[in-house]
Amino acid sequence: MNQADVIVIGGSAAGIPAAVGCRRRYPEKTVLLIRKEKQVLVPCGIPYILGCIGNPEKNLIPDAILDNNGIELAIGEVKEIDRDKKTVLVDGGEAVNYDKLVLATGSLPVVLPIPGTDKENVFFAMKDVDYLNNMVDKVNKARDIVIIGGGFIGVEFADQCKRNRDNNVTIVEMLPHCLQIAVDEEFCLEAEKVLAEIGIKVLTNKRVKAILGNSQVSGVTLSDGQQLKADLVIIGVGARPDTELAQKAGLQLGAGGAIVVDRFMRSATDPDIFACGDCAEKYSFFSGKSSPTMLASIAGAEARVVGANLFNTRYQNCGEIGVFSTIIGERAFGCAGLNEAAAKREGYDTVTGEVTAPDKHPGCMLGGTQKKLKLIFSRDNGLLLGGEVSGGATTGEMTNIISACIQHKMTAYEVSLFQMGTHPALSASPIAYHLVNAAELAVKTIQEEGGIYETQKRGTA
Ligand SMILES: Cc1cc2nc3c(=O)[nH]c(=O)nc-3n(C[C@H](O)[C@H](O)[C@H](O)COP(=O)(O)OP(=O)(O)OC[C@H]3O[C@@H](n4cnc5c(N)ncnc54)[C@H](O)[C@@H]3O)c2cc1C
Repeated sequence: MNQADVIVIGGSAAGIPAAVGCRRRYPEKTVLLIRKEKQVLVPCGIPYILGCIGNPEKNLIPDAILDNNGIELAIGEVKEIDRDKKTVLVDGGEAVNYDKLVLATGSLPVVLPIPGTDKENVFFAMKDVDYLNNMVDKVNKARDIVIIGGGFIGVEFADQCKRNRDNNVTIVEMLPHCLQIAVDEEFCLEAEKVLAEIGIKVLTNKRVKAILGNSQVSGVTLSDGQQLKADLVIIGVGARPDTELAQKAGLQLGAGGAIVVDRFMRSATDPDIFACGDCAEKYSFFSGKSSPTMLASIAGAEARVVGANLFNTRYQNCGEIGVFSTIIGERAFGCAGLNEAAAKREGYDTVTGEVTAPDKHPGCMLGGTQKKLKLIFSRDNGLLLGGEVSGGATTGEMTNIISACIQHKMTAYEVSLFQMGTHPALSASPIAYHLVNAAELAVKTIQEEGGIYETQKRGTA
C-alpha cells in the first residue's frame, strides 16, 4: 500500500481506538495502522506478567480487532514524516501518502539519572515481549528485589514479584508515602499496611543514589548512605512521551516533551496531523493546565475524539480527570479526580464526606468486603472534585462512577440523589450505598456551616 486516507502510527491503547473510531465514523476511508512490534502487549497488564498472568504471550491485544474493522496493518518503524508531501517513510520500505495522519507513538520509561541503570538485572516497564520474557525468568531466580518508585506501577510490580515466591522485595520511595501522588495520606497508610502484611518492605523518604555491582547488579545505595542488597532492580518512576519522530517533523512540543494539541486533538502545528495517548500533551479537566498524567484510559478517550474529528469536527476533549485503580494483595484502591491535598493545592475550599460500609448486603454475603469511600467537594458551589476508594473487587467500578459524576459536573446534592440499582450479591445496600451517603454527609456539613449553593435548586428542579 502506498496510499491511505488515514495513517495511524502506533498500535496500542491510543492507536487502535483512533483507527477503529475513524472506520466507524467514516467507513469509506481507508486506514493503515503502522506499529513497530509484531505483538502488542496489554500495557497495563505488564506487572501481572511477573505474577498472576505468568508470561507476556498471555498478555497480548489480539489483531482481530483490526481485521474486524477493515484496518490495514503494517509492521515497521516510521523513520520520517514529510509534511509537505504528506508521506511517512517506514524503515526499509517505500513512502506512503496520507490525507490525515494520527500520531499515537506513546511513551518510554523514564531512566533515572543515577549510575548503574545499565547493569544486568536492572529492568524497566518496557512494552516488549522478549524483554519481559527475560524479566520473568530473572525475577523467578532473584532472591533480593528492589523496586525503585512506590507509585501504582512500582507497587504492582512489588506485589507481583512477591506472589508465590520466597524472596525479599523492598520498595524505595522518595516521597513520605507510597501512592502519595494519587491518594490522600489515610489511603496511603492503608496501602502500606497491606504491603507490610504481604511481606513487602517499604522505605519512604529515601532516594536511590546509585545501583551497585560489576556487570550485574548487587545492591543499591540510598540517599542516607544505607546500602541494600539486590540481585534484581525494577525502576518504575514514570514515563516520558516518545516524540522524537514528531520533533523531527517540526511539530510543536510542550514543556514535558509531548505534542501540543488543541481540544479537538489536532496538533498545534499541522491541521492534518492529530495526536493522542501518551505522546500528546494532557490538560487538567479542572484547571486546564498542562498535566503529566498518562493513562491508557485517557489515551482511549483522546483516541475516540481523534477518530470522530478526522474529517469533520465533532468532539472536544474535556481534559484529563485522572482515574486510577489498583489492587495490592486482596485490597483494591482507586481514585478519580483531585484528592483532598491536590484540591487544596489548586486553591479549593473543600468539604469531604466519608463512609465505610460493606459492599454487599448483608455484609456476610459471599465476597462481602468493607469498602471505604471519601468524596471531595468544593465548598463554594458543591461541585464534586474527586473521590478515593479502598475495598474489594467493586472498587474499580465505584471509582469509575465517581469519574462519571465529576465529568458531568454533579454537586454534592445531586450525587446524594444518585439512583443506583442494588442486589445483595452485587452491591452495597440502598441504605448503606457509599456514594450517596458520603455525598449526603458533605451536604450536611455545608448546611450546618450555613452554606447555600444554587446548585441545590438544580437538584430539586
Ligand atoms: C507497567 C504499566 C502499567 C500501567 N497500568 C495502567 C493501568 O492500570 N491503567 C491505565 O489506564 N494505564 C496504565 N498504564 C499506562 C498505559 O499503559 C499508557 O498510558 C498507554 O499504554 C498509552 O498508550 P499509547 O497507545 O499512547 O502508547 P504506547 O502503549 O506506548 O504505544 C505506542 C505505540 O506506538 C508505536 N510506535 C512508537 N514509535 C513508532 C514509530 N516510529 N513507528 C511505528 N510505531 C511506533 C509502538 O510500537 C506502540 O505500538 C500503565 C503503564 C505501564 C508501563
